[in-house]
Amino acid sequence: MSVLPILTAPDPILKTKAKRVELVDDRIRTLMNDMLDTMYDAPGIGLAAPQVAVSERVIVMDIGRTEEDREPLRMVNPEIVWASDEDNTYEEGCLSVPSHYSDVVRPKSVKVHYLDETGAAKEVLAEGLLATVVQHEMDHLDGILFIDHISSLKRNMILRKLLKAKKEALES
Ligand SMILES: [Zn+2]
Repeated sequence: MSVLPILTAPDPILKTKAKRVELVDDRIRTLMNDMLDTMYDAPGIGLAAPQVAVSERVIVMDIGRTEEDREPLRMVNPEIVWASDEDNTYEEGCLSVPSHYSDVVRPKSVKVHYLDETGAAKEVLAEGLLATVVQHEMDHLDGILFIDHISSLKRNMILRKLLKAKKEALES
């Protein structure tokens, strides 16, 4: 069990398309457990492997509100096989884009195929908050951040602020 450092934008790894996982083995299971520890510690409700500098198609999520109703979801090579025509708008944030939030429009429900931590093929129909979270995390696997869904004006303003914060952290 370990809490890993989380990359923040701008960072080239966050813009890279992650590789498919060929085998769900102990290395991947350890990665998923470390990612969950990192996510709960942050705290957050979703995390993708590129955010902890691992460019592979692995995501974890938990939209449970308290420690008692934790229901972690671990997904390897997730793929959206169906999306609703109806959209939903949520104010999104991201552990890699700290302190910034913005409304993002995405399909209201999606059906996702993935491999679980044992390598078994699974399917989930994600609706509401979970639909938003799974789409947000899957975007990370293609090098896409939620700020790529908003106006370039607002995106560039956020990126400038994040870059400035990074420089200040380096200088201090
Ligand atoms: Zn994110």
